[in-house]
Amino acid sequence: MYLRRLELQGFKTFATKTVLEFAPEDSKRRGITGVVGPNGSGKSNIADAIRWVMGEQSMKLLRGKKSEDMIFSGSEKKSRSGFAEVTMTLVNDAKHSEIDMPEIVVTRRLYRDGKSEFEINRRAAKLGDVTLLLAQAGIGQRTYSVIGQGMVDAVLSAGPAERKEFFDEAAGLRPYQLKRHQSITKLQTSRERLAQAEALLREIAPRLSSLQRQVKRLEQRDELEKEKQELEERYFGGMWHEIWAHLTNAQTKVDQARTQEKELLDQAAKLETEFAAMEQAVPPSKAFEGLRQQLDTIAEERAALREEQAKLQARVEMEKAQATQPKSPLSLGSIIQTVEGTQQQLDELWMAVNKEDANLERIKALIHKIHTAHQEFTKKLQEPAPEAKSKEVDPKLLQGLESITSKLKAIGERSKVVQQEIDDWDKKEAGKRTHLFETQRKLNETRETARQAEHRASQAAVEMARWETKRDSFLSELKTYAPQLEAELNHLAQRAGDVQGVAELQPRLHRVRSQLEWIGNIDPATQKEYEETKERFEFLNNQVEDLRGAIQGLDTVIKELDETIRVRSEESFHTLNSAFSKTFKTLFGGGEAKLIQVPPEPTVDEEGNLVPPPADAPPAGIDIQATPPGKRLKAIALLSGGERALTSIALISAIMATNPSPFIVLDEVDAALDELNSRKFAEIIHDHAVNTQFIIVTHNRATMHQCSVLYGVTMGEEGGSKILSVKLEELEKLRSAATS
Ligand code: ATP
Repeated sequence: MYLRRLELQGFKTFATKTVLEFAPEDSKRRGITGVVGPNGSGKSNIADAIRWVMGEQSMKLLRGKKSEDMIFSGSEKKSRSGFAEVTMTLVNDAKHSEIDMPEIVVTRRLYRDGKSEFEINRRAAKLGDVTLLLAQAGIGQRTYSVIGQGMVDAVLSAGPAERKEFFDEAAGLRPYQLKRHQSITKLQTSRERLAQAEALLREIAPRLSSLQRQVKRLEQRDELEKEKQELEERYFGGMWHEIWAHLTNAQTKVDQARTQEKELLDQAAKLETEFAAMEQAVPPSKAFEGLRQQLDTIAEERAALREEQAKLQARVEMEKAQATQPKSPLSLGSIIQTVEGTQQQLDELWMAVNKEDANLERIKALIHKIHTAHQEFTKKLQEPAPEAKSKEVDPKLLQGLESITSKLKAIGERSKVVQQEIDDWDKKEAGKRTHLFETQRKLNETRETARQAEHRASQAAVEMARWETKRDSFLSELKTYAPQLEAELNHLAQRAGDVQGVAELQPRLHRVRSQLEWIGNIDPATQKEYEETKERFEFLNNQVEDLRGAIQGLDTVIKELDETIRVRSEESFHTLNSAFSKTFKTLFGGGEAKLIQVPPEPTVDEEGNLVPPPADAPPAGIDIQATPPGKRLKAIALLSGGERALTSIALISAIMATNPSPFIVLDEVDAALDELNSRKFAEIIHDHAVNTQFIIVTHNRATMHQCSVLYGVTMGEEGGSKILSVKLEELEKLRSAATS
């Protein structure tokens, strides 16, 4: 992998489109390209452009205050640019295993309105894609691939943790760390989504079971309809049969009694005529006549009272029959409404119990509400029906009946007395009026038997009235519940015949009707809602399963990445450490330097106790110890400026040897070196240029001497940077100047 081309347009001092081509020195060496030119001409802006196109976000590293500072701001002669664009072309000649593209072209563009774009091979991409791709290519984005002025020293001045980050990147751990970071982000997102899905499941579950119950009932409808029809046919047919049997029976009794009464009354009329004729022949005394009249009056009074008694009796029976009609204290509608209400309260309770932050007080309040409503409902159900009270037999009727009974009793007493007097008188007149008396006795007897027949007829009429009442209420029940059966009632009665306990079918029929009415109250859209809710529930359930699987998978990936990072970090640390010690000794001609792993600090638990870090915890940072030859100091802070620069170069050189980056941009890192060390530095770069491509911004002749290509940067008259290829002779001159 190497950098082939860099195109800049509108970036900092590069107002117009500028192209820099880079190529390997030959087939064996990547080579060194030098960038030279006067101060302020824009050399470092090239290093900034490479850093920027690789996705750098730090304005400090990019030497600006705001992102707009990356766009050419204009000069006296040239107006400002509307956007900045940098394109970097990398050639993937090493056929890196993770990247299967022969060429990688990364573009970054920024407009003045703040709109920013990335492209990979001319296709829109995200910053994360660029970061990962470059990490996979082994290009250290933030740290050692582009090393700017003062940055070398920054590695030494950095804290152990920052330094570790630098070394981790140099060790090629960045792709693993990025993958780990992505996996942790995914893990967090999956956990959040899992919690959301589980919460939704808990919320949906009670609604789903309520809908399921309703749908089950809807499914029962056909069966219940069939049962209702069958029950209705049996019940109404059987009842009609029973009512008609009783009515016919009562009618027969009435007819028979009336016929008998009529015959007896006819006989009595004949006897009366006979008796009147006899009386004319043997006129009775005035006293006897008085007794006989009294007896007649008593008979009339008794007949009138009996008639009244029969009428009253019939009304009482009718009212009693009406009063015994079954009535519910509550309407069916209100029973259904109450039961549905209780179900809703139970659903609410279920949800409250299943909530993650279940509130005990709220649950108690809900249970109390349901308990109170239930008590009230039960009480109402047990109350006698208000209609039943009003249908009790009118007490005035009963009083009337009682008074007639006592009057009849009194008349009976009076009749006995008068009869006794007549009997006494008869005894006295015996013989004289024997035949007359015999006729009169027969007359009385006939009248009495007629009265009894009349009484039987009245009783039968009462019975009939009772069954007629039953019939009326039966017919109104039929009209209300099964009007379709009206036409075929006689047929049904015939089919049912004499059913024992037909009235007992009624409670079952009521139950079936209630169930059907309940089903009728279920919204027809319930089935659809149930299907949708079930589908959603199953979807969420699958999602929960998938998320659990994904979380498990991510946990494993993170553990594996942790292990890879740990092993690689440990290995590269040892390689780096020995390379650093070796290069330090070479550069300084002796002395000693090493890297030291800083263990993580113990943590403090909730009770304030110190908890030591786990035995396999990775180091928290890396320290550097460097002692130049003949000195005792170990602290880096005590090194001279040149010594620091050399130590940094030893460190960077060690990194380059451990994990060679495809290219490295060095921006005046040799500025602080004396002539001798400049030469040493140039030699190191020369050696590394076998595997690593160098782009070096420098004023140092020794460094220029090592370059195979030189670019000169100047500030043009219009106020923008211009690139010139330095002529080969000039390069040679520089080389000879550097060697002399
Ligand atoms: P030196 O050799 O002194 O380090 P250099 O050649 O590296 O100099 P740079 O640091 O690359 O120079 O360029 C700095 C110049 O770029 C400054 O003069 C600065 O004003 C100019 N500059 C920076 N940003 C912009 C911009 N957005 N528009 C125009 N000019 C800019």
